[in-house]
Amino acid sequence: MPLVIWTIIFLLAILGLAYYLTVWFKTQAFGYFPYAVKTNKKIIALTFDDGPNPPYTNELLEILAKHQVLATFFMPAKNLEKFPELAREIVAAGHVIGNHSYCHQFSNHFKTLKFEKEITRAQTVIESITGKKPALYRSPWLFKQPWLLKNLKAHGLTPVAGFFSSNWEVWKAPAETIAKDALKVVAPGRIIIFHDGFDTQGGYRAGSVGAIDIIIPELKKQGYEFLTVDKLLGVNAYQNL
Ligand SMILES: [Zn+2]
Repeated sequence: MPLVIWTIIFLLAILGLAYYLTVWFKTQAFGYFPYAVKTNKKIIALTFDDGPNPPYTNELLEILAKHQVLATFFMPAKNLEKFPELAREIVAAGHVIGNHSYCHQFSNHFKTLKFEKEITRAQTVIESITGKKPALYRSPWLFKQPWLLKNLKAHGLTPVAGFFSSNWEVWKAPAETIAKDALKVVAPGRIIIFHDGFDTQGGYRAGSVGAIDIIIPELKKQGYEFLTVDKLLGVNAYQNL
């Protein structure tokens, strides 16, 4: 085989390995980054990333209240600055909020290995708006590497991964499609990832929100209970309890 082909194969292999180690949700190569707990009990944690994002987050809160389910929201702090009242509503309803960086730019992961400013700025903003200092953290893209994980520990943050609810979620699929996929993903002890926003851009999320109204009654029928991530993992939700 010509050298150029070998070079391409080699580069693809390196890229694949890098993706597997730093982005793939199950990777624990660099330390604890939980996506589930081992249990036979029918318990799961619903998580929502990239809000607050009106009116979808508002509708989601109504649906969760209607079904009396508590969830965990990983929100970029920049979104809290835009919608502080909605962030406070989420907390007041009993849901848990976690750090999801300040501005949710994947490229910022490469500016400093420790990701320091993104983490601390988000902590400060979330605490000043909601009075809660998160102890849970989810990286944009579930990105992980040793320096970041070490820094999270230093800031008292537990990293949280999860199973993506549906590959179609990103394409704004209808509620039925997302719900059908999500029901296949659910299993005892799993953390499930949905999105009520898009990074810090906001945008249409009716499919994801509608899917929640479909899956909760179905999963309740199957005997499932819904826990917040801290309760599922047995860790603290906040640092200033
Ligand atoms: Zn996100």
